[in-house]
Amino acid sequence: MLDRELLESQLAELPLYGYFFVDTSELEFSERIRYICEHECPMYGKTWACPPGTGMVPECEAKCRSYKDALMIATITEVFNIADIEETLATRPEHEEITKMAADMVRQQCDDVYVLSSEACAICEECAYPDGPCRHPELMNPCVESHGIILTALAEKYGIEFQYGGNIVTWFSLIFYK
Ligand code: SF4
Repeated sequence: MLDRELLESQLAELPLYGYFFVDTSELEFSERIRYICEHECPMYGKTWACPPGTGMVPECEAKCRSYKDALMIATITEVFNIADIEETLATRPEHEEITKMAADMVRQQCDDVYVLSSEACAICEECAYPDGPCRHPELMNPCVESHGIILTALAEKYGIEFQYGGNIVTWFSLIFYK
């Protein structure tokens, strides 16, 4: 059983905009999210961390629901112009670092941890997808959207604005544990 009080005292050391604990029965999944990946993201079909390499939505849902509990974390960063995709994406590595630190804190208490984050995965210079298996499955975190998870209502239910507004970029990660 995860000691939330201990974890929360550790999370307080990270520059998080917010976090909350979620029962995976609260998560909603939809193919609709993946439609956005397919039609708006240049990384679609480029790495094992993105659809369709992550598997179909029902498989992703089954994987996520095999954990009862998850921790959602959010970070925010101010940019000069949020419409500038390059500037916005440049803020992602910092969120990834914070996600890794939060996941390590959870790992101190749980043997089985599964992380979804904001990354399309850039660990290898050239991804093995689709010709060979992922070279570093233990390091690679698929992106939340790749699993078809609807974050908007969930985040707002727990008091975290999905879109902060202005030139503030908000990133989310989900850390499943058991
Ligand atoms: S770790 Fe390497 S092979 Fe695996 S998804 Fe990332 S870039 Fe691709």
